[in-house]
Amino acid sequence: MNSFEQKIQSVGCQLTKGPIEVLQVNLGKLCNLACVHCHVEAGPTKTRENMNRETAEAVVRFMGRLKVRAYCNTPLRLDLTGGAPELNPSFRYLVVEARKRDIHVIDRCNLTVLFVPGQEDLAEFLASRKVEIIASLPCYLKENVDKQRGKGVFDESIKALQMLNGLGYGKKPVPGTAGPPARLPARQAGEAGTGFSNLSRNVPGTVDDFEQKGKHGGPPLQLNLVYNPVGPHLPPNQEDLEKDYKERLREDWGIEFNKLYAITNMPITRYAKYLKAFNQYETYTQLLINSFNPATLDGLMCRNTLSVSWDGRLYDCDFNQALGMPIRQAQGNGERSRTMQMRNGKPMTIFDLLFTGTRYGRDRFCNLLFMNLSRNVPGTGLEGRRIETGNHCFGCTAGAGSSCQGTLK
Ligand code: SF4
Ligand code: SF4
Repeated sequence: MNSFEQKIQSVGCQLTKGPIEVLQVNLGKLCNLACVHCHVEAGPTKTRENMNRETAEAVVRFMGRLKVRAYCNTPLRLDLTGGAPELNPSFRYLVVEARKRDIHVIDRCNLTVLFVPGQEDLAEFLASRKVEIIASLPCYLKENVDKQRGKGVFDESIKALQMLNGLGYGKKPVPGTAGPPARLPARQAGEAGTGFSNLSRNVPGTVDDFEQKGKHGGPPLQLNLVYNPVGPHLPPNQEDLEKDYKERLREDWGIEFNKLYAITNMPITRYAKYLKAFNQYETYTQLLINSFNPATLDGLMCRNTLSVSWDGRLYDCDFNQALGMPIRQAQGNGERSRTMQMRNGKPMTIFDLLFTGTRYGRDRFCNLLFMNLSRNVPGTGLEGRRIETGNHCFGCTAGAGSSCQGTLK
């Protein structure tokens, strides 16, 4: 048993899967950047590890079935990540198919990809399909961003955020977050913003009407930013940091956004190598262990997320995916749910979760899955199954906790 399992057992917890509310699809490792903290070790040379159309189509069929069967109370979210997911030829296909089914789509965007040749219309495409953008910006200071992500990344990120604001992104705060923006962003870097009072709220055709509906009509376009520490320490308080980010980005660049997610760097893969090269690995991992917070366990993202890799394999989260720890078909050892006890420990794939037209066809697993659904038991057959953990999980439970949606408590 790993140290993380021992720790959670000592507080009476066992991590098990609940209903799937987030289908997180990693389209591959191709990226126009090669950041030092990247847990998927993505980069411009990773052209092999990318999702093909057959797998993308399987994802569409699976999410369609989840949606059609009103599988869970919380609306299903399709969370597209990578690499730079937008560089995969099936990215736009997945977005279009999800939106046709009224499924909320999140694009985890590195911002600079908007300026990659061939992606000139990407921002417009995302806005027209009302895709939520979660964009990496590890600091509001150029020096820190360029240190972590590469020279020139900060300037391009600022340009991209201004362009997204111009399309209507980030104009209205999500309820329950830091206060409303005081003014519209300037259209160009360094330009002063323009102040607007509440007097013009909800008047058709005014700036506030535009703010609420976005350029493409309908609900406002969400633009959320991701902070992760530049050094080997835990993120500061997310709310305080969000206020700082909003103030600095608005004052310096006229940029508005909705929420800031503070995420802990996971000491695995490329970031682990980086820490080891600077003799900081032991100190950092010990910090995560010492900062274990049991209050984060209920909100861990692996409880409601199904992570699909570029080759269709299934994981409990993107970190397990990066570490090659797939969800396995159970071997009947009594520890896993009944529906999982029929295969022989092979990694499961998205094709296993489909009823028909897959490499497995209508097999026993699929029949049990169908029975589950037809009895109105919300499930994919994964519910109740124990989540694969490792010592890296301390990265999610340290301090205020960490997930793809920021802190946990
Ligand atoms: S952290 Fe994101 S932007 Fe940076 S290399 Fe990895 S996938 Fe690309
Ligand atoms: S790394 Fe985090 S999200 Fe993944 S299984 Fe561990 S605790 Fe869950």
